[in-house]
Amino acid sequence: MIALDDIMVEIGDCHRCSLAQTRTNLVFGVGNPNAEVMFIGEAPGEKEDLGAEPFIGAAGKYLNSLLALAGLKREEIYIANVLKCRPPGNRDPRPEEIESCTPFLREQVRAIAPPILVTLGRFATQFILKTDRGITGLRGQVHITGAFSVLPIFHPAAAIYDRNKEPIMEEDFRLLGRLLAKRREERTERTVHKELS
Ligand code: SF4
Repeated sequence: MIALDDIMVEIGDCHRCSLAQTRTNLVFGVGNPNAEVMFIGEAPGEKEDLGAEPFIGAAGKYLNSLLALAGLKREEIYIANVLKCRPPGNRDPRPEEIESCTPFLREQVRAIAPPILVTLGRFATQFILKTDRGITGLRGQVHITGAFSVLPIFHPAAAIYDRNKEPIMEEDFRLLGRLLAKRREERTERTVHKELS
């Protein structure tokens, strides 16, 4: 299996789509390579493009506060985006950009192999769940795809824009906390069972 460092070498100074011409930095992803939870966002914004790190602007600060509701710290998770380079003016990713860039995301998911994927917003959710359905109808439930439990959640930037979404965000991060607690409980039970048998 390919390691994150090898994917970073492979992506290099990527020019596989036109976003290479307008980006300041390529934003690969950051966090714990053995994370239990991997978050997938949409694309770098202005701050992320300048700082070469995902979720360091206002949406990142909000995300950090939501993580606490799930009992998680930022250093425990891994975060990457569907697109590694900023679309000008934060416009939506285009299909050809998603097609060029997502092989890297797929490799990141394989390298980290987290049991839980949290998809933030429409683009990450539709890519991971291979669906055209909107995020509103998909959030609030755990979807199983292959070996992954996928929890779609609104993108934090959407909740900053529309404060009515805040209680929904909080509800979904509490659901993530319960999902994690259940997984950990099952793991402990399996270990005890193994030790006793
Ligand atoms: S968005 Fe992805 S495919 Fe396009 S240049 Fe950046 S890294 Fe390469």
